[in-house]
Amino acid sequence: MKTISVIIAGLTLASGAPAEKIALTGGTLINPGNGQIVENAIVLIDGNRIARVGEAKSFNWPEAWGPRIDCTGKFILPGYIDTHIHFFQSGDLFTRPDGADLNSVRPYKDEVAWIKSHLDDVFARYIRCGITSVVDVGGPFWNFEARKKASREKLDLGDPPIVKIDGPEQAREFVRKLAAQKPDLVKIWYIVDKDHPVDAFRPTVRATVEESHAHQIRVAVHATELETARAAVEEGADILVHSVIDKPVDDSFVKLLKDRHIILCPTLVVFERYGRTFSHQLNLMPEEKAWGNPEVIASLDVTKIPPDKLPDRIKTALAKPDDALDRIKKTYAVALPNLKRLADAGVTIAAGTDAGNIGTIHGPALFREFQLMKEAGLTPMQILQCATVNAAKLFGGETGSHIGKIDKGAFADLVILKSNPLDDIARASDIEAVIKNGVIYPAESILK
Ligand SMILES: [Zn+2]
Repeated sequence: MKTISVIIAGLTLASGAPAEKIALTGGTLINPGNGQIVENAIVLIDGNRIARVGEAKSFNWPEAWGPRIDCTGKFILPGYIDTHIHFFQSGDLFTRPDGADLNSVRPYKDEVAWIKSHLDDVFARYIRCGITSVVDVGGPFWNFEARKKASREKLDLGDPPIVKIDGPEQAREFVRKLAAQKPDLVKIWYIVDKDHPVDAFRPTVRATVEESHAHQIRVAVHATELETARAAVEEGADILVHSVIDKPVDDSFVKLLKDRHIILCPTLVVFERYGRTFSHQLNLMPEEKAWGNPEVIASLDVTKIPPDKLPDRIKTALAKPDDALDRIKKTYAVALPNLKRLADAGVTIAAGTDAGNIGTIHGPALFREFQLMKEAGLTPMQILQCATVNAAKLFGGETGSHIGKIDKGAFADLVILKSNPLDDIARASDIEAVIKNGVIYPAESILK
């Protein structure tokens, strides 16, 4: 295939400090998984797990519990999960030389070195945003090292993030090579053009799915056209990692996704960020400016690049800024109603940003994603479900069954908000503190 297959590493962002027995008292608990809202709630945390959850008025306190943290007036939610990010990309202007070659300004090997030396910084920015787990949907083999590091262990250079696969046999061979690294998912880029029609790739997609499933690995597919997405699901894919953006979805597609229990991750934010960055019309939210990496954000000003070094793609965008905005508008005119229709039909939607792509900021890009989901017509509860319980399903495995909810036995990964996100999803970023592995991080202390 013209297409590609790569990896995914699901990981939960680890923290070092030892955890203990703590109690959260007096807050309003919001558990999107079952739509439950408990006022004056008590949440007991024992180490990295939730030990008990209940209402204060009928709570049966165990003997000897540790410190009580008063959450009166606050809102307690499961930690958010971003199900589509890339650690091998920084989000800066130099991070995709295949899309905009700026090697003459900053050599790509310097970019890669910077990314590898800033992984801890990226983890901290996710935590600052209340994002306690992420799914890395593809990168080079050193991604597996990033997964280890995120769960606290160590990190090399020169393997491609995207590999072209030319047929079913090669697909099977590559999946076997990936399987040796025990990926959480295998990802396919299903890219078609007039010389490579949808049906030409079906045997390769099917081979990838069969080989992956034989190794108990689920398959995620990058397919942004209705017909490629349909073909991928018909051939057995489990997850669609982007929205359909070329056409309105139809009844048979909605039914297919429901019948096959497909999870779809819309990644709305990434669809605007290349065009806006290249045309110098970037619309970063206050959260992104405050909590994104300042070096990454500073790089996104294309007017600082010497004009003779600008790739044609950026020159064209700068010359015709309205065209860039028009394309974005057209994409959302299809993608937003598609999201609404799929969500309302009961298809499992998992929130994800594609962070790390140019202009899509690791961490706070999720709040722009929420804003776009709201524009699509999703309710705050639906959006919170996408970022917690549904995202946990995409995450999968042992870990996936212990995140995205506030229940006995679940991981103590929580967000404490100062105001109610059910009134307005914008409040999802009004963060007082984040709890990761049972350790409390006051929001203001995280990026110091
Ligand atoms: Zn991606």
